[in-house]
Formats: sequence, structure tokens, C-alpha cells
Amino acid sequence: MAKLKIQKVCENCSKVFDAQRTTTRYCSHKCNSVHYKLKARDSKINKANADTIKVVNKPIEDIKTKEFLSVSQTAKLIGCSRQAIYKMINSGRLKASIIMVKKTIIKRSDIELMLEQAITEKQPRMYL
Ligand SMILES: [Zn+2]
Repeated sequence: MAKLKIQKVCENCSKVFDAQRTTTRYCSHKCNSVHYKLKARDSKINKANADTIKVVNKPIEDIKTKEFLSVSQTAKLIGCSRQAIYKMINSGRLKASIIMVKKTIIKRSDIELMLEQAITEKQPRMYL
């Protein structure tokens, strides 16, 4: 019985080769192991990236559970600049306690209160 000849393209080097089986994906054992290593490296990189995202998001997760926040934490939570938070405090829209020099704390419930008031404002202003 004649050997089955299947033309396939190597998934690693893109060379056309004669495969003995339809499931063969590489022209040689070398290509097979090279590609396998690359895939292993890719998954390592993906895992590292996922870990980085976790580390980056962790502070926000911590903030979410806190009752008292600093100005920077509040800024991070709402997603605006610290200057914007100071403006809100100075204009009286956001309640804050200055417990010592350069230490302003904001109660989480006051942030929620401010947000609610902003929503129920009867005449929404346009900022252009
Ligand atoms: Zn190959």
C-alpha cells in the first residue's frame, strides 16, 4: 500500500512539506519544539500581563472597601484629577475634613451624596 502523502504548511516556518498524517502540524521535530516553546513563552507573557493588571487594579479594589478616603483615593475612585476634587471641596459640593495639614479625608458616603445631588440637580448646566 502506497504511503499517504499530504501536503501541509508548517505552522512554525511556513514551509510546505509532505505529511504522513493529516494531524501533523510541523515539517520537523525542530519546528515542533520551537513552536511549542514560543507558545509556552506567550502564555507566560500573558500570565505576567494579567498579574500586572491585577496589581494596577488592586488599589481601586482597596478603595472600594474603605469608609474614609484621601483626596487622591477619591480622585482615583471617581476617575478625575485631585485638582477637581479640591475644587469640589472648595465649592462646598463635597464635604471633607481637614484633620491636619495636608491631610484631607473624605467620607465615602459624602462622595455618594454629592453624586446623588449632581444627578438630581434640576437644571443641568452645560460645560463647554
Ligand atoms: Zn518547519
